[in-house]
Amino acid sequence: MTNFEELGLKPEILQSIQELGFEKPMPVQAEVIPVLLDADTDMVALAQTGTGKTAAFGLPLINKFDFSTKHTEAIILSPTRELCVQIANDLKKFSKYVEGASVAPVYGGASIDAQIRVLKKGVKIIVGTPGRTLDLIKRKVIDLSKVRYVVLDEADEMLNMGFQDELNGILEVTPKDKHTLLFSATMPREVEHIANGYMHNPVRITIGTRNAGSENVQHYYYLVHAKDRYLALKRIADYYPNIYAIIFCRTKKETQEVADMLIKDNYNADALHGDLSQAQRDHVMSRFRHKNLQMLVATDVAARGLDVNNLTHVINYNMPDELEQYTHRSGRTGRADKSGISIAIINLKEKFKIRHIEKAINKKFEQAQIPTGKEVCQKQLFHMIDKIETVEDNAAIEPFLETIYKKLSWLDREELIKRFVSIEFNRFLEYYRNAPDLNVTEERNESHRNEGGKTRRERERDRARKDCEFARIFINYGRKQGAVPQRIIRIINDTVGIREMEIGHIDIMDSFSFIDIEKSYVNEFLKAFGKRKDSRYVVEEAQPKSSRGRGEGRKGERDSSDRNERSDRKPRGERSSKGESKRKSDNGGYQSKNDSKTSWNKKSSKSDRRESKGRRR
Ligand code: AMP
Repeated sequence: MTNFEELGLKPEILQSIQELGFEKPMPVQAEVIPVLLDADTDMVALAQTGTGKTAAFGLPLINKFDFSTKHTEAIILSPTRELCVQIANDLKKFSKYVEGASVAPVYGGASIDAQIRVLKKGVKIIVGTPGRTLDLIKRKVIDLSKVRYVVLDEADEMLNMGFQDELNGILEVTPKDKHTLLFSATMPREVEHIANGYMHNPVRITIGTRNAGSENVQHYYYLVHAKDRYLALKRIADYYPNIYAIIFCRTKKETQEVADMLIKDNYNADALHGDLSQAQRDHVMSRFRHKNLQMLVATDVAARGLDVNNLTHVINYNMPDELEQYTHRSGRTGRADKSGISIAIINLKEKFKIRHIEKAINKKFEQAQIPTGKEVCQKQLFHMIDKIETVEDNAAIEPFLETIYKKLSWLDREELIKRFVSIEFNRFLEYYRNAPDLNVTEERNESHRNEGGKTRRERERDRARKDCEFARIFINYGRKQGAVPQRIIRIINDTVGIREMEIGHIDIMDSFSFIDIEKSYVNEFLKAFGKRKDSRYVVEEAQPKSSRGRGEGRKGERDSSDRNERSDRKPRGERSSKGESKRKSDNGGYQSKNDSKTSWNKKSSKSDRRESKGRRR
């Protein structure tokens, strides 16, 4: 299918597509649109972000619906409010010339009364975040009894963000004969579970390979010491003067810190994370969209709804906790058929993550070298020369030129150029005069290893860990609520955000879990959870009760033999649940045995399989 006309869409829809400048269907559209136009069916479509998914499901639905009636025929669920608004706006544009078309977004953090007023007029296509949608269903404002289509957009993200219960609640009130369209960038087991459990013979469409990143993205990694991460980021930013990038961090705290440092160092950067108000987020996103900001430092969740097509780079300042998240991050660039670069700044211990990603996305990373100070200066110099060559004439300068010529007449051409260029260039020269090489070579690290195979740094870290006292924390979040170690760590990262805080074992029970955390952080930890806007987690320090065995009874402390196991504690980001130490050499402890979603590991052990089987519903 080479053009939209051949797809069989109504003329009024073709008119809006033409206005939007869509010349030919993107691959996901060429595959999905004919199927949906041809029949009412369930569908599972695996496609990356930015591949044109909204039009793929939006155009056929608009084409199918009878807008002369007012009842709701489609509910589209999306993980974030930004994405929700974006989808609704796209659908409004697609249906601009369709008479009576009505599309409305509903999402949290905005006045529910205003949304209720719009809904009461009768809305054919509702686009909602799961929480607000369920709320409006309970208030009997949204009636899904006549819905023909449920669209789950970015299904993996919705499950990642813990919306399983809300999704169940919403799907429950939809008719049995409705059709479900599931779009996801990755296919973890939880998404398969929905596809298998709730859908009837879905048509399966895969654009690219499973869990694969965009075809247009090149992947590079830079190997540095963890302490040099920020310096490396600055070098990269300086080496690409036209950089237009999202820099991904893992926690809100880290996001703010990196943005603050960049701003302090005079970079055109800002932060985007969930601790900002909606108005602040909108403002930052708008500045970034309009290219008034070159670098956006963001958390994964906050960046989800950002629709920017021409990023030059995605930078993984810290690698994500989950493999799928990398696909989402790198998919922010290389969108809409443009090429892009995804960069990972890693230390030696994180190298295995690169290998796992390579396997999952079936693409190779190239190791790149952090540019030397000289290389950065050279790049900046030529960037400046280019700017001089292409600067636009400005008539306003004319009246001053005569005097300027006279004043500088004693300088010859070469001297003049040198002085002008030096004004800008000296700043970089000064900064980079004695700039060290930030690249880490594996040989260099090897040479510092002792007989035990450990570097001095690793030995120091082990010693520090042995000295570290742990406290046990109870949380009312267990297997039944979808708890896996990675999710628990993510919740902690998002809520507490203290990177230095050690986390030891995580024991997951059916409806609660125990987490060992560094004792000195207990107060801060509890306080941070107390400050959460939602009150879904009950978090308390577990009372010592040596007579109880591990995991027996709420808040029971494990016995002393468990304590002795704690010598294999891992730093944040490399934490795992109990029983995993035997695989440590394989994966550096990045994945826990209980995790059913993340696929950093090459293959699951017998116990993994047993565990995941037991949990499958
Ligand atoms: P989406 O994945 O739906 O967020 O789309 C990603 C971007 O591609 C959006 O900015 C769309 O406006 C744009 N887009 C979608 N379909 C096409 C098309 N056929 N031609 C050009 N751009 C498109």
